[in-house]
Amino acid sequence: MSQAPATATVPERLRLATAALAGCSGCHMALLDLHLELLELAAHTELVASAMLCDTKHYPDKVDLCLVEGAVASEEHRLFAKRIRQCTARVVALGDCAIHTNITGLRHRCPSDLAPRLVLSEAPAGSDPPLPQLLEVVLPLEAVIAVDAYLPGCPPRAGAIASLLRRWWQQQPLIDAEVRPQRFG
Ligand code: SF4
Repeated sequence: MSQAPATATVPERLRLATAALAGCSGCHMALLDLHLELLELAAHTELVASAMLCDTKHYPDKVDLCLVEGAVASEEHRLFAKRIRQCTARVVALGDCAIHTNITGLRHRCPSDLAPRLVLSEAPAGSDPPLPQLLEVVLPLEAVIAVDAYLPGCPPRAGAIASLLRRWWQQQPLIDAEVRPQRFG
């Protein structure tokens, strides 16, 4: 009697997401700077959500790791950060804006009502979607949700991102979570 052919075990790819809060997209550009290492990334992960790299409208459940760029500057960002935390095993603050607000935090150097006035003066009447509801204070990601690792830099070096991702799929500690850069801006 012939035996049924053994089915090859396909290793399950880890579910990776990236998210953008208030930043300049430079941290995502640094991720793209991985160049050929993106192929290695693709072999180990499935990109399930990304503001800039795939056309997903909603942040999914059961994400294994999310790289979060940008500070928390609006109520929308705050709710999005909560959703990310709820659905993600490990959250990485990617870049100095996420870690300590950086450029985004320069808003605090303006007179308190100047930034909203600058936005509103550019907005068409009755804009749709409505203007973001800015928070009084721009917050680092860790002020809103627990963060598992920090990857400093403006933007972080592509090599540092590659190293973190490799450590992740090799099930090593992501990076030294105690490393905190000095405040800038
Ligand atoms: Fe842009 Fe720098 Fe902020 Fe990244 S850390 S979003 S590169 S300003």
